[in-house]
Amino acid sequence: MPYHYTRELFSEEHEIFRASYRHFLETEADAHVDEWLKAGRVPQSFFTKAGEMGFLAVGVPEEYGGPGGDFLCRVIIAEELGYSVAGASIAPLVIGDGVSEILFHNGSEEQRHKWMPPMAKGEVRMGFAITEPDSGSDVASIRTSAVRDGDEYIINGAKTYIGNAAFADAFIVACKTQPELGMKGISMIIVEADRPGFVRGRKLEKMGSHLSGTGEIAFQDVRVPVSNLVGTEGAGMKVVMTGLNMDRITWPSIAHAASQRAFDETVTFTRNRRSFGQAIIDFQNTRFKLAEMKTELAVGRAFLDDLIRDYLKTGKLDTIRCAMAKIWLPEMEGRIIDQCVQFHGGAGYMDEYPVSRLYTAARLHRIFAGTAEIMRLMVGRSI
Ligand SMILES: Cc1cc2nc3c(=O)[nH]c(=O)nc-3n(C[C@H](O)[C@H](O)[C@H](O)COP(=O)(O)OP(=O)(O)OC[C@H]3O[C@@H](n4cnc5c(N)ncnc54)[C@H](O)[C@@H]3O)c2cc1C
Repeated sequence: MPYHYTRELFSEEHEIFRASYRHFLETEADAHVDEWLKAGRVPQSFFTKAGEMGFLAVGVPEEYGGPGGDFLCRVIIAEELGYSVAGASIAPLVIGDGVSEILFHNGSEEQRHKWMPPMAKGEVRMGFAITEPDSGSDVASIRTSAVRDGDEYIINGAKTYIGNAAFADAFIVACKTQPELGMKGISMIIVEADRPGFVRGRKLEKMGSHLSGTGEIAFQDVRVPVSNLVGTEGAGMKVVMTGLNMDRITWPSIAHAASQRAFDETVTFTRNRRSFGQAIIDFQNTRFKLAEMKTELAVGRAFLDDLIRDYLKTGKLDTIRCAMAKIWLPEMEGRIIDQCVQFHGGAGYMDEYPVSRLYTAARLHRIFAGTAEIMRLMVGRSI
């Protein structure tokens, strides 16, 4: 992603990492994404190559088979994915940072050694399943149950809108272990997709992000060993938050990078496209709107970089400021990309132009990983 301002956060090694990931995305993803869209999936060879080059589960330490990248490497992955053409179709599928974060911070040694090395190599994919047909934002009302029976849990229930549902090998599933305790009765349990009683439901057709394999899964008396519990019983929401805070840096970063891409595409397009004898960019309306976008991009960049600096200083992600980023950056993205589509005219509605794909992908960013309204509730409570 080209910078339009000085960023001193990143070292020379980070910039080398950025350039190599960008090159990887251009040659291995952007160049093939149209074929993948026709086939309806990303081939295994992409994950194998990404794993070999250390671009998957990038924060997983080397002792657990990961590339051992630092926080800034993870930010770079999000930014470059957001800026790439393919990112609009594949980002939720390949980012996988939330799941590896959850396992790393809460998983047992056995779980870390079992799942993290193959995830980092691209051999195994995991999904993360909270949402149910009757419960999304209101997580406390989930109904999927896990009842203890000796050394096993018996799991029953259904989940929907789950990323990677169509392809993942295992899921970290939010279950009620003590239904009477509401939020405090939720536990996170790993369920492998090859267990008897695990059902892959429909793959859902969506407005964008077409390659993320979003769909339904269900559990009919699925038995898993108690050792599949992630963290402790009843601590499900604490476990989830370790991944969600990271997601709330990742998705705002992707939103910013996608907006920057749309802006750059639009500057080029409006320079080349002529109407009434002049380039579109030379209408005052275009210049004014582009000036507003450039300003919003700079404001968003400053806030995100401040959050990143905070993390580098304290080693912690501030939940409220992450929620603020998750409100503002995807909403900024909505404003910017909508205007970029407008400046492309009819071309902006055509999938062969990146702004069209960026537009539909962007709509998701205000909805998942905590809706903009739930983020407002969190920020509001902090006042
Ligand atoms: C493409 C895609 C991928 C997804 N991937 C996953 C995944 O991998 N795993 C997973 O578990 N989930 C996933 N989700 C689900 C997503 O997290 C939920 O859709 C989201 O949390 C909202 O839940 P809901 O759809 O049930 O909406 P609801 O919770 O029913 O909300 C509907 C509307 O009401 C608003 N609302 C709800 N409560 C309040 C309130 N208290 N105050 C004000 N407004 C409120 C919401 O903000 C929203 O605007 C995905 C969704 C999509 C679209």
